[in-house]
Amino acid sequence: MQTQKKDIRALTKEQIRDFFVANGDKAFRGNQVYEWLWSKRVHSFDDMTNVSKTTRQMLEDNFVINHIRVDQMQKSSDGTVKNAVRLHDGLVVESVLIPTETRTTACVSSQVGCSLDCNFCATARLKRMRNLNPDEIYDQVAAIDNESRLYHDRPLSNIVFMGMGEPLMNYNNVIAAIDMITSPEGLGMSPKRITVSTSGVPKMIKKLADDEVRFKLAVSLHSAVDEVRSQIMPFSKSFPLKDLRESLEYWYSKTKSRVTYEYVVWKGINDSKRDIDALVKFCKYVPCKVNLIEYNPIDDDEFQQASPQAIEDYITALENNGIVAKVRRSRGKDIDAACGQLANKNEAAIN
Ligand code: SAH
Repeated sequence: MQTQKKDIRALTKEQIRDFFVANGDKAFRGNQVYEWLWSKRVHSFDDMTNVSKTTRQMLEDNFVINHIRVDQMQKSSDGTVKNAVRLHDGLVVESVLIPTETRTTACVSSQVGCSLDCNFCATARLKRMRNLNPDEIYDQVAAIDNESRLYHDRPLSNIVFMGMGEPLMNYNNVIAAIDMITSPEGLGMSPKRITVSTSGVPKMIKKLADDEVRFKLAVSLHSAVDEVRSQIMPFSKSFPLKDLRESLEYWYSKTKSRVTYEYVVWKGINDSKRDIDALVKFCKYVPCKVNLIEYNPIDDDEFQQASPQAIEDYITALENNGIVAKVRRSRGKDIDAACGQLANKNEAAIN
């Protein structure tokens, strides 16, 4: 029976070094191979030109090198680019390049589909198929870095984990991917330029703090009233705001890093004075800022963007209480690349 060969990029540097030692070779050979795989991003063992033919053959006999393939790029009128990313097993995720005057941001996916069930999000309608591996997350970033250099003459400057999936439900792989992205052997990016966005899983937020991560944390809050939040984000019934608050206090006490709350205001759902007061109160627990995100419709009558006045009321109340609040306009709406719109709509066209 033929056993399936393992993806060599699923191995740590240590494991690759161990493989060489176990096969009677020197551990440093592992460093060389690791560099080919990550810094030089080769797709084939034959491209590892300073590695002997026999060694390359031994690698070939034991491993494969999986890579993502950008199957389709769609460009928005505002310059945003959406990549449909084909994984080695044929599944597809999406990632987005968002250019501004001064930066290029990559918005990347962490799962195929999503484990959660936020009613306003298109990705939530897809079943969660599987977690992405560290190399699949890393490759999305590397692909967007290439596109940024090609189209904007500058490297990627920021990364947000706001694509498909819940990063904290794929904790180990997301952390491993960020380790590679920030490592000099990988893309050498500063963790301060990386934001992980979570719908709020208290236990995992505490774990981030314990693991002393150095990237930024954003929480998709959308309501500071338990009944409202659990209605629009049903999974949050298991994670009451009290627990979320406690985990964020813990996060701040350990990291001293300000939290960003993402918040969409919907008509008749969270646009009353009670909702505003609850948010202002919640914002006082830990140092934070609020990003009021424009709603991106997903063919659903239940959710509609609140009136400009409601947004204004939120901003006034937050600012009067010394809380920084910004309205974030959506990018890439015309190609379904904006927050919450990633749902592989064009997959039929790719096949
Ligand atoms: N699971 C993570 C990251 C993916 S979603 C999280 O929940 O944070 C990225 C952001 O888009 C989240 O803030 C999410 O609440 C928001 N979002 C989802 N659907 C949206 C929609 N239709 N319009 C605007 N924002 C949306």
